[in-house]
Amino acid sequence: MSTPDPLARLVGELARLPGIGTKTATRLAHHVLRVPRQEAEALSRALLDVKDQLFHCSTCNAITAVDPCRFCSDPERDRTSLCVIEEPFNIAPIERTGEYRGLYHVLLGALSPQRGIGPDQLAVGALLDRLDGVTEVILATNPNVEGEATALYLARLLKPREIKVSRLAFGMPVGGDIEYTDEVTLGRSIAGRREL
Ligand SMILES: [Zn+2]
Repeated sequence: MSTPDPLARLVGELARLPGIGTKTATRLAHHVLRVPRQEAEALSRALLDVKDQLFHCSTCNAITAVDPCRFCSDPERDRTSLCVIEEPFNIAPIERTGEYRGLYHVLLGALSPQRGIGPDQLAVGALLDRLDGVTEVILATNPNVEGEATALYLARLLKPREIKVSRLAFGMPVGGDIEYTDEVTLGRSIAGRREL
């Protein structure tokens, strides 16, 4: 068996990325072929640095180069409020709204019976373990079927603990994703969150 040629290998690797089909992968690979060597080096270095230098915060699961992360270690942040999100990349759009000054908890996914993802596959236990001193939990899972199911599940778990549990007031498109919601809409969703 011979190794496939470098171009075919690059196309193959790029096509594994989410949202990239063979056609786009081929276009990107040919682009890399054309750019100066240092540009290709910068890309490959950036890929490896992400793997070598970043990890999940041991408290909130945000992506970080230091543990605890900059949110968890920031004395200015409101420690009585936790915003629960599905993925680490949901933090940035919420930060950009300027409406939220509390801490985060990243579940690392959402409940999905179809894909066999139950509470044990998510950071639910870790959430329950860090509720000391927390008075409000904002459920900011995505406004789609899985995100809603996750929010309902967590609301039921949290209610008996006498914590105010709220959900983003979605003017956000149903079936949508927090990452694709514009700042103004997302900011309003946070400001107008309703108690569950
Ligand atoms: Zn953290």
